[in-house]
Amino acid sequence: PVNAWTGLDLNGNEVPEGAEPLAQLYAGHQFGNWVPQLGDGRALLLGEVIDRNGRRRDIQLKGAGRTPFSRGGDGRAWLGPVLREYVVSEAMHALGLPTTRALAAATTGETVYRERPRPGAVLARVAASHIRVGTFQAFASRGDVAAIRALTAHAMARHAPEAETVLDFFSHVVAAQARLIAGWMSFGFIHGVMNTDNTTISGETIDYGPCAFLDEYHGAKVFSSIDRMGRYAYQNQPDMAVWNLAQLASSLLPLISDSEDEGVAIATEALNAFGTHFRDEWLRRFRAKIGLVTQEDGDEALIVGLLSRMSTSRADFSNTFRTLATSGYAGHLVSDPGAWDSWAPDWQARLAREPGDPKATMRAANPAVIPRNHRIEEMIEAALAGDYAPFHRLSAVLAQPFDDGPDTAEYARPPAPEERVQQTFCGT
Ligand code: AMP
Ligand code: MG
Repeated sequence: PVNAWTGLDLNGNEVPEGAEPLAQLYAGHQFGNWVPQLGDGRALLLGEVIDRNGRRRDIQLKGAGRTPFSRGGDGRAWLGPVLREYVVSEAMHALGLPTTRALAAATTGETVYRERPRPGAVLARVAASHIRVGTFQAFASRGDVAAIRALTAHAMARHAPEAETVLDFFSHVVAAQARLIAGWMSFGFIHGVMNTDNTTISGETIDYGPCAFLDEYHGAKVFSSIDRMGRYAYQNQPDMAVWNLAQLASSLLPLISDSEDEGVAIATEALNAFGTHFRDEWLRRFRAKIGLVTQEDGDEALIVGLLSRMSTSRADFSNTFRTLATSGYAGHLVSDPGAWDSWAPDWQARLAREPGDPKATMRAANPAVIPRNHRIEEMIEAALAGDYAPFHRLSAVLAQPFDDGPDTAEYARPPAPEERVQQTFCGT
């Protein structure tokens, strides 16, 4: 079908006029293991467009068929992961986080074979670009400095036009990733596969496979069945981003200095700025979650005090914060009532020193609804049976995550024990 906005055929059957579709090469560390060649094995970059705000965007079809990088795969996607990425990436955008977006999901009419036959589908994905840390690694690992230079010039012009040096560019990416991960943390988002090939230079979230939003708060929460070591657990995400950015630094070293030792020293210093950027943004976001816009020294202890009590009681992450915003009382959500009473007076005393409207601050920082996995699974099951009403309802609620509407309470409800989704699978 031709998409009404773009006039493009978005299920990949026809190449738009003037476009020269291509599959991009990349490499990467997957769960810490080096994979010298990955690349778009099931995605085609149709090209770039300038959007209404003058920003350049990639349009990519995911699930469009085999490419030179497909290895043993069929190049296809099926409806479940396509709808999952559609819903979660659009929800991330509505939460205000940088992310690739979903322009369209289309069934192809073909059957894709996974554990069983599934309806084939294509996702039209829009991104600031699809340049990843792994794109740099692909050339660095081949020792192709000319290619890294060309790629860096391209990426700088596109994502950091104000950067004057390669080091400035690297620092720009470090800051963008630090802000992104702090944003993830503040909404309880677990990416699940923070491999270097899933780490963008733009600072957008990319690749929604085994991701999840926390229901119960617990820092060591893992959400991917293939992440057996807990490498990408909720609380490890900042460290893993630093690890990924260190791989980018390694790839850029020949452009940073002629001396490797000097290059490493300079790049390490730039990478260390991640901690400051992350901490500033984390504090800003979590302060807002408890109603604070001004800064006081005790704020971090106050935030951590609440989080540790939530963790001990396995309190629902989003609902605890939202309840603070709407009623100012969340004692019923932390199972030990003493825990609330030993925290709330300090918080109330701190709020009394806060100008403005702390409830409005909290409402804007604490969503009423997040894409909970049990609702996503339910939506996919319905779609597979031909019923797209849950998809449309879920999408509508998630488009206004900070507002209370008629469907909000139902979608805010955490999963009952039997509804709990223990793991989600890669979007293959
Ligand atoms: P992902 O886990 O989605 O980040 O993908 C990891 C790598 O596997 C990428 O190079 C993908 O292009 C490739 N890949 C995943 N699924 C398929 C498939 N069905 N056919 C071909 N390649 C695939
Ligand atoms: Mg990927």
